[in-house]
Amino acid sequence: MAKSNIIATIDYGQIAANARSIIRFTETPLMAVVKADAYGHGIVPSAHAAIFGGATWIGTAFLDEAIKLRQGGITAPILAWLSPPSEDFRQALDWGIDLSVSSLDQLQAIVSHGDVIGCKPRIHLEVDTGMTRGGALEEFPALVGAIGKLIDQKRIELVGTWSHLACSDEPEHPLNQQQGERFQAALEYLKAKGISPGIRHIANSGGVIHFPHLYYDMVRSGILLYGYAPSTGFKGCPNVLPVMELSAVVVLVKKVPAGASIGYGATVRLFEDRYIGLIALGYADGIPRRLEGPMQIWCTIKGEKFPLIGRVSMDQITVDLGAETTVQAGDRAVLFGGDKSATADDWARAAGTISYEILSKIGARATRVARVH
Ligand SMILES: *Cc1c(COP(=O)(O)O)cnc(C)c1O
Repeated sequence: MAKSNIIATIDYGQIAANARSIIRFTETPLMAVVKADAYGHGIVPSAHAAIFGGATWIGTAFLDEAIKLRQGGITAPILAWLSPPSEDFRQALDWGIDLSVSSLDQLQAIVSHGDVIGCKPRIHLEVDTGMTRGGALEEFPALVGAIGKLIDQKRIELVGTWSHLACSDEPEHPLNQQQGERFQAALEYLKAKGISPGIRHIANSGGVIHFPHLYYDMVRSGILLYGYAPSTGFKGCPNVLPVMELSAVVVLVKKVPAGASIGYGATVRLFEDRYIGLIALGYADGIPRRLEGPMQIWCTIKGEKFPLIGRVSMDQITVDLGAETTVQAGDRAVLFGGDKSATADDWARAAGTISYEILSKIGARATRVARVH
């Protein structure tokens, strides 16, 4: 096999340590959120690491992701919260995966599969408290009525009741308070109908940091597990460290004369003779094209910083190595996440996005390699 040019080195031990840190901070059971290939970190090993660190639940968006985890040996309870009506819910039952329910139609589709094979689907009732994505809103009372009947008929198990915060990375936003109140009201509605809500969960990583009164019975954390805070400015508890180091090989080093332009669009022109390094990764690998140089972002080679220069191509970027250089073809450039290198937050800030997007878009050409201590 050819040697990997692009390597995402993943410190799974650090995922475990981050999970421990979140649990110590919240003193609440943790659902490790591993959707989107664990934000780019590799879904199966990341889930195992989080469980090793004390997480007792796993959360995914899609049923496919949950099944992949079961096939990878994860036995902890798993919730998959995003299912189209055409989903093969039979699979969820076969693999013992909990499903989220936001509507009567969804509930009906899930229950009909359960009836066929004579097994009780495990569901989590999602309440829309103001995020306006998933979750029952107008239908909530009718859905609760239907769930109550199905519980009495022993045709479903209501394992949990949950919601999602829209602004938890902005603690001053008034929606946080409103969502908390609406969630509480939904729980009281269930109680008035004599229905146990099961495990109550609403806090994501922002909630973990800012809203202890919203921990309830479990917190769902993703980005903190991977060592980043939901918003870039945040420093503080729980103490977590980045998990992914992204590096790529320097393919070519060459001297370029003053006056030469660099890359697509000839957007940069050299004022003096410089050494330019060509690095083998580009926007197809998740480097935002907006990080066009000069001086927006840097990489480190042998511990020294070098700025990206010129546009990001699909498979390659160029860096300014200076008027003299010791860098050689074959050296490795660390893009982010290493010692003395940039962070995914630095990249996010420069590209006008969030670390979540930077991490989860690191492409399939980056070989995931476990860091060995
Ligand atoms: C992605 C997601 C989370 C985790 O969010 P973080 O901000 O990464 O902690 C939690 N719950 C749901 C429903 C999600 O979609």
